[in-house]
Amino acid sequence: MIFRELFSDNKILEAIESFGYEELTEIQEKVIPSILESKDILACSKTGSGKTAAYILPIIKSLSENFTDGIRAVIICPTREICLQIEEQIAGLAYYYEKISYISIYGGNDQDSFVKQKNALSKGVNIVVATPGRLLSHMALGYINYEKLQFLVLDEADEMLDMGFYEDIMKVLTYLPSRQTLLFSATMPQKIKVLAEKILKEPIIIDLNKSKPADEINQLAYLVYPDNKLKLLFYVLNNYQYKRAIVFASTKTSAGNIYKKLKESKYNVIAIDSSYNQLQRIETIRKFKTRENIILVSTNLLSRGVDIEDVELIINYEIPEKVEDYVHRIGRTARAGKTGLAISLIQPSEFSYFQRIEKFMNKTVEKFSCPEEIGNSPVYEIVRKSKQNYKRRSFKRKNQ
Ligand code: ADP
Ligand code: MG
Repeated sequence: MIFRELFSDNKILEAIESFGYEELTEIQEKVIPSILESKDILACSKTGSGKTAAYILPIIKSLSENFTDGIRAVIICPTREICLQIEEQIAGLAYYYEKISYISIYGGNDQDSFVKQKNALSKGVNIVVATPGRLLSHMALGYINYEKLQFLVLDEADEMLDMGFYEDIMKVLTYLPSRQTLLFSATMPQKIKVLAEKILKEPIIIDLNKSKPADEINQLAYLVYPDNKLKLLFYVLNNYQYKRAIVFASTKTSAGNIYKKLKESKYNVIAIDSSYNQLQRIETIRKFKTRENIILVSTNLLSRGVDIEDVELIINYEIPEKVEDYVHRIGRTARAGKTGLAISLIQPSEFSYFQRIEKFMNKTVEKFSCPEEIGNSPVYEIVRKSKQNYKRRSFKRKNQ
């Protein structure tokens, strides 16, 4: 379906064109018509499938056709990075509508920003993109008027629940009048269904059932002893092609260490982790997006929602314990139909995690031994949960 079938105003069509979108993605095709009919929505589709524009476009259409001052839409999402990214899409898609105002609201910055946020909220900025905690702080102070509110969006809802925002979200709701509510999530665990039941009215449920990674992502793995992991990382970075690569580590310490080692070996690398302040994070993402640095070392912080295009290579230096984290990490590649490669470096203590991941994906990822120059490789063992005994399965040795 092309956008002209749903949107007629050239101002929005031109903005869509400037983003290079030609056709609606599947989730957009499924949800936009229902949003335009003022229905509540529960929408679930894999990362990178275009959920942000799926709700921003109808919001902009509605605001532009029937403009009023005041807060018309509140979008709640888990992190500042995602806030900023949503704001960026709003900025682009509402570019030709000068009247439409928006702001992103998140914590962790200085007093000045709080005052700026307060002013915008008191004046009735049209679209508010916010993390739950900071929004609540403003709400509690009593200067926000929600009479004009038309849309409430909860984006990355599964992630928000994982981060423990359930109570905050419920509190936010007590401040809001009735409105159209849109719930977006990459996965549909039971707790999302429970939340949906509580807050949505006769929702249209669209579950593209693709918490599984996109087919366009090629996945492979190396079996490696911990002592050889760093050497293997260098090997992978030297032998696979990429314009930009993200290396995921499971802890801050590990990420810091990888960054240091890559830097010492003169790789064009930058790192991001949760101890970075707001400015450092924005700057880091900017440098990576503009390819000032082409390798980004990150903890799980970046694994969700943050959209960085054209990352051809994802390396799991450590295998995440949570299956969803794996899916989200590798979801940083093969965005919007492009192909990408995800390489996992698995050490024996991570075999059971990887086994769980494969089971979840219902897919066996091809595993390679380390190239000779790196050293011996462990044999991949299938860890049997119930009996705690181990069955050996050997994989053919393949040299790359
Ligand atoms: P999700 O929220 O589902 O993880 P995003 O909204 O972040 O996905 O979108 C992923 C990428 O796809 C972004 O770069 C976005 O600009 C792009 N995108 C969105 N809609 C389209 C479309 N219709 N055609 C092409 N690219 C799109
Ligand atoms: Mg998203």
